[in-house]
Amino acid sequence: MMKVAKLLGNGKVEIVASDRPSSDDQTVLIKVKATGLCGSELHSIKGSPVEREGFYNGGHEVVGVIETAPAGSNFEPGMRVGARVVQGCGDCHFCLQGYETACKARKIYGQNGHAEYFRLGIRGIQLLPEDVEWPAGVLLSGDGLGVPVRAARRLGDTSGQKVVVLGLGPVGLSSVVVQVSRGAEVMGTDLIDYRTKFAEALGAARGVNSTKEDVKEAVLEWTEGRGADIVILAVGHSAAFLQAIELVRQQGTLYQVGELSELTFNPSETFLRKEITIKGSWYYTSEDWKEMLALHERGLRYDKLITHVFPFEKAQEAVDTFASGESGKVILTYE
Ligand SMILES: [Zn+2]
Ligand SMILES: [Zn+2]
Repeated sequence: MMKVAKLLGNGKVEIVASDRPSSDDQTVLIKVKATGLCGSELHSIKGSPVEREGFYNGGHEVVGVIETAPAGSNFEPGMRVGARVVQGCGDCHFCLQGYETACKARKIYGQNGHAEYFRLGIRGIQLLPEDVEWPAGVLLSGDGLGVPVRAARRLGDTSGQKVVVLGLGPVGLSSVVVQVSRGAEVMGTDLIDYRTKFAEALGAARGVNSTKEDVKEAVLEWTEGRGADIVILAVGHSAAFLQAIELVRQQGTLYQVGELSELTFNPSETFLRKEITIKGSWYYTSEDWKEMLALHERGLRYDKLITHVFPFEKAQEAVDTFASGESGKVILTYE
């Protein structure tokens, strides 16, 4: 048996006993050392209760030590690893380019991660550098850094450009850190002072609280009336998307990383009159992992994003802190 955090909805989480997952010749079992709370879990945390047998919603940013590995694989017990939970078949057109998120046979190991043990497919095992501590390892090897890095790779050279990050949850804040490291000038906007101030502490030129300031005016003033070169949308609201179209300059780029399933907008005004490019990406890939490691080796202080570390037993406190919005990255640690 093992303990696992069960997200109950309505802001509640409970630690329950569950069967320890078993590994096979395609998976390893990881003894978990730390996990990250992710913005993508907020709807499970805050939303209405979901009851599905054996499925506890949360947890896909996981680091730990391999407990059991398939015989004949490149992996063995004791290795310190992080988890790339979206994995491909390994030999299709996309997988061969290191673009596993496009694989038609992709598998996602994205549930029951806030637990003492975690089962992971062998194609997404990422060996952690020796000098990385467990909480920082969660950011380094998970989508906390992976999403901003994939976006940065797809945006190309942003040095000297004015980048607005809309939404300063963990991925928005991490986007600030990554874009500042690439030489962009960054403005971050959010509804919460804690986060706009934190963005400034992380290197943003300006943090704007959109409940107190007119964001469009702030952006126009900051860009001498042109609008932002790039707007990164790290929220999933259609109103924010429409605002991003307003904030971006002629021929600028809007980059979507927040999940958003439905939207009505005006393509004539957006693509024709304004000639805007709209791009986006989901999660990250094995190619992105190489860049994530390179950023670590160059000394990027992504670990500054971590504001709270709680022992797993205090999962409720961790969830409360995260749901309040008064946090950067929130991490749970395990024995
Ligand atoms: Zn995540
Ligand atoms: Zn594939």
